[in-house]
Amino acid sequence: MSRIYMDYNATTPADPRVVEAMLPYFTEKFGNPSSPHSVAHEPRAAIERAREQVASCLGSQPSEVVFTSGGSESDNAAIKGVAFAHLPERGHIITSAIEHHAVLSTCEYLEKEFGFSVTYLPVNADGLVDARDVRRAVRGDTCLISVMHVNNEVGTIQPLKEIADIAREHDITFHTDAVQSVGKLPVNVNALGVDLLSLSAHKLYGPKGVGALYVRAGTRMHPIAHGGSHERGMRAGTENVAGIVGLAKAVELAVDEMDRETARLSALRDRLQNTLLREISDVVLNGHRENRIPVMANVSFLFVEGESIVLSLDMEGIAVSTGSACTTDATGPSHVLAAMGVEPNVAQGSVRFGLGRYTVESDVDRVLALMPKIVERLRMISPLRNRA
Ligand SMILES: *Cc1c(COP(=O)(O)O)cnc(C)c1O
Repeated sequence: MSRIYMDYNATTPADPRVVEAMLPYFTEKFGNPSSPHSVAHEPRAAIERAREQVASCLGSQPSEVVFTSGGSESDNAAIKGVAFAHLPERGHIITSAIEHHAVLSTCEYLEKEFGFSVTYLPVNADGLVDARDVRRAVRGDTCLISVMHVNNEVGTIQPLKEIADIAREHDITFHTDAVQSVGKLPVNVNALGVDLLSLSAHKLYGPKGVGALYVRAGTRMHPIAHGGSHERGMRAGTENVAGIVGLAKAVELAVDEMDRETARLSALRDRLQNTLLREISDVVLNGHRENRIPVMANVSFLFVEGESIVLSLDMEGIAVSTGSACTTDATGPSHVLAAMGVEPNVAQGSVRFGLGRYTVESDVDRVLALMPKIVERLRMISPLRNRA
């Protein structure tokens, strides 16, 4: 039995073309990019090429790309970086209730330890932030707005441009966590109107532990890692050369192949989702039906625990997840579904199917063949059914 991976929103395997691009930088081209001798040349040039590649995919200047250890670090660097630059006046931050914990926990930390005030914007039943709520939340001392591009649990795409216009009008720095959108949707920092943008390689067929933060020239912020003058003083530490090369290759491949992959995967996703909704009773789709990335479906099966479905599929060699991988240890319903007003009994039956580069038609067939039986069996033994 071959394993089927359908959890691409948690992480992706590195594309072999990415690994191949990275390999020389572990061995022959191992030099420290900051060294004064010629062993530094190749790695230093590779980082600058990578910076140009990432910048060209984002529509930014190369000098506006800072390499980091991943999405979480980029989110921390963006939010703490802006907040610490506004420490004297202890400003106000606007974010949303459905952000990744890398954003939410950072905002909570600034609130508790540094006295910032934070507004956590609500979302509607589809998981959308309303730009009018952003406008209403703006205060004279608002220093940062941070709203994610695409939610990692339900895939809903936020109206970034509308929010950006409000931020610009009030001269407020605007950050977006684009970890789930880069490589899946066109992402251009000027079209979106963002000042800061986080991305991560392992969500787009690159290696784990490397990412980038786009920082618009002139953004008022502090670095959060001090030391050497790497990354124009924005992030001290000897660069993860192989990782950076892999990130750039991964971004480039994803952008090159986006149109084809979007067409292929959205057809597979729609068939998976529509068949589940049609053939199994008491099934609900979570997230916006149209305004959503084409590669995932978050579906609730009433009267069962999503967790039980995940375990049942795992025994069949199929990997899916319940919402966010980062919260599978935490008990209680997803903060995203809760913010969307999804009833707890619906939220607890939620399963996220994430499709990606190596998903094939037969994977979807296999899941569709198994799901009705699994749900039926779980419902027979479920105490939730009787209570309903
Ligand atoms: C995965 C993810 C992150 C964290 O990225 P890492 O590189 O794993 O630290 C942040 N935000 C979103 C939306 C994500 O999906």
